[in-house]
Amino acid sequence: MATLLTSRPDIIAILEDRGYRSTAPRRAIIRILEDMHEGFTAEDVGRELPGVGRATIFRTLKLLMETGVICRLNLMDGAPRYSLSRIEHHHHTVCVECGKVGEFRAATVERLMRVIGEDIPGDIVGHRIEFYVNCDECIGDEPS
Ligand SMILES: [Zn+2]
Ligand SMILES: [Zn+2]
Ligand SMILES: [Zn+2]
Repeated sequence: MATLLTSRPDIIAILEDRGYRSTAPRRAIIRILEDMHEGFTAEDVGRELPGVGRATIFRTLKLLMETGVICRLNLMDGAPRYSLSRIEHHHHTVCVECGKVGEFRAATVERLMRVIGEDIPGDIVGHRIEFYVNCDECIGDEPS
């Protein structure tokens, strides 16, 4: 049974806890992220913030990724996309129609990964799993 995750952490508080200053461009980017459609690209963020340089946006996204605040998603079309993270270790569902991102945790998946990992040479440092789906809304839109 997968647990769906819906609440969001206070990003600025997380950054400050880890010793990062909340500069004006960082705060602007974080404000935008909180309103972003899930599965956004760096370009989407740039469009909303014409006054903030591309390099600053990329650096900030990287920082947020390193602190676990946002996730980078592997999509089938190859464009790197990001979504706000709600919890430390989790996996994603991504709608192939609308790009909507969901997060879930499943103890069964983690158990399976540990079992498989025993047969994999080397020290495993992580894994990522994305399920590609047609979300309920997109299924609902289909002409009957
Ligand atoms: Zn995530
Ligand atoms: Zn969808
Ligand atoms: Zn996992």
